[in-house]
Amino acid sequence: DSYLNPAYTFDNFIEGDCNRLGRSAGFAIAQNPGTTAFNPLMIYGGVGLGKTHLVQAVGNYIKNNNQDKFVLYVSSEKFTNQFINAIRTDSLRDFMSFYMQVDVLIIDDVQFWAGKEKTQETFFHIFNHLHGAKKQIIMTSDRAPRDLQGMQDRLQSRFKQGLTADLQQPDLETRTAIIQKKLQSEGIFIENNVIEYLAHSINTNVRELEGVIVSLMAQASLNRREIDLDLARNTLRNIVVDSEKEVTIDTVQDVVADHFKVTVADLKSKSRKKEAVFPRQIAMFLAKEQTELSLKSIGYHFGGRDHSTVIHAIQTISDLVSNNPQARETVEKLKSTLK
Ligand code: ADP
Ligand code: MG
Repeated sequence: DSYLNPAYTFDNFIEGDCNRLGRSAGFAIAQNPGTTAFNPLMIYGGVGLGKTHLVQAVGNYIKNNNQDKFVLYVSSEKFTNQFINAIRTDSLRDFMSFYMQVDVLIIDDVQFWAGKEKTQETFFHIFNHLHGAKKQIIMTSDRAPRDLQGMQDRLQSRFKQGLTADLQQPDLETRTAIIQKKLQSEGIFIENNVIEYLAHSINTNVRELEGVIVSLMAQASLNRREIDLDLARNTLRNIVVDSEKEVTIDTVQDVVADHFKVTVADLKSKSRKKEAVFPRQIAMFLAKEQTELSLKSIGYHFGGRDHSTVIHAIQTISDLVSNNPQARETVEKLKSTLK
């Protein structure tokens, strides 16, 4: 058994600026394992950004197109457990020779080996053997090799010997494509404005994005209704509030509108009236301060304004807050309501 999950493929891995280098190196390796310059391939990045998906896509591709290659996917934790077990049962020799027969070795989350000297030493020998025999090695880590504290220098330098590529937070375009692909694979249709709303509102990681889609589908079927903007707003609010009590842009707009006795529609409108402009600028300022959203996304949530308008609003309110005690008090009050 290769321990690969066949669900992770290149077909359903969306390419974007955030993952382009890693994806193309992975694809090159998939076609020519062991013989590209990308050996080892080290993919690193934060949680939920697609490391496991990408490296398993490489493994699945090779397994399906190259039946004579022995592809093995193993988490670093499992490797360590097998190693400890081998010592306990006096079968270290078998353990080593098993790993030395692998053609494509994929080790997930090597940061787990920090401080585990014996595991590192053993892997070092396996690595050298495989690499010398032009076998492919692929690894993932939650941080760059240079930041792997507790990892032996000689191992760190092996990690950096081939290609190191990081996966970044998906950009707006990639998020949109991921949502579309996911819905398509579930056979669900939702309006573009809902997709746009989701892509603009969730910018943490892909796993969270998928979680929201799953919740949305559950809500829709539970309530026998379509996935529309209302349902998306409510679902998102509940999820975010449940998990970390993070402030959402919807909450910011509700709180500000309520305070100034205007409607959320006023905040999003193009109205230049003073009654609308000031609350709108405050809401933009708070959105920047209290959420993780980009200027572009904030503009989107305020009737599709561009980022320079948002910058101007933030600047205006910052100046006001530093010069005008009454404005400062208003902003402080709104902030405490948001909390
Ligand atoms: P990591 O290993 O970096 O924590 P995963 O590979 O487990 O992240 O990815 C989390 C989820 O997001 C998985 O369900 C995965 O299929 C999905 N995913 C991540 N990146 C992409 C992408 N570029 N295209 C499609 N799905 C993705
Ligand atoms: Mg993973």
